[in-house]
Amino acid sequence: MAQNITHNLKNIKKKLPDHVNLVAVSKTKPADAILEAYHSEQFDFGENKVQELVYKYETLPKDIRWHMIGHLQTNKVKYIASFVYLIHSVDSIRLLRAIDSEAEKNNRVINILFQLKIASEDTKFGLSKQQLIDLLELDEFKKFEHIKVLGLMGMATFTDEIHTIKSEFGYLKKTFEEIKSRYFNDDPEFSEISMGMSDDYLIAIEEGSTLVRVGSNIFGERNYV
Ligand SMILES: *Cc1c(COP(=O)(O)O)cnc(C)c1O
Repeated sequence: MAQNITHNLKNIKKKLPDHVNLVAVSKTKPADAILEAYHSEQFDFGENKVQELVYKYETLPKDIRWHMIGHLQTNKVKYIASFVYLIHSVDSIRLLRAIDSEAEKNNRVINILFQLKIASEDTKFGLSKQQLIDLLELDEFKKFEHIKVLGLMGMATFTDEIHTIKSEFGYLKKTFEEIKSRYFNDDPEFSEISMGMSDDYLIAIEEGSTLVRVGSNIFGERNYV
């Protein structure tokens, strides 16, 4: 299995246009699998559990850029604040507050994406467009000095219906443009749309993704979530 990782990565990277970056989702996968990808010049990795992320950060090369892609509890921000490169899953003012304060303690600015609920299926996490607008309008939000908003993230419905996936990604792209023109027009760093996983990243790219999060197509199927 392990020797396939380099090959899988190459195959995927061939399909990515220049403006699209790849986050290799390494959740549940062991250090040697990550190292194989790392030695094939993959430096961005995504994890969805704080404990696992911290452990991997501590044991793996320090120039890896770690992405937190899963739901993040407010009380756990402190464990990743010193090193996390980008938090994809921000969906509340409480979480922003924790990120800003922990980033300040670590003397750094933490990059974030707002997670938007774009799937028609019932999912627990993510903001509606209106909730995002309400949050961006808060005076408190405007005062955070240790947070850098790089864009939006979303997950499509788990389905085989391509038109559903396409329209959900299209909605995220459209919302990104709207939010950008209204709140981040003078900010070139507000530029990322994180969408697309193993089964739908090519559709996501067609719809405007700049950051795809691919796990099983690189590392093989996971035994558990
Ligand atoms: C697990 C996960 C992925 C990667 O899923 P694959 O289908 O294995 O590519 C991407 N994004 C999030 C938020 C995930 O939890």
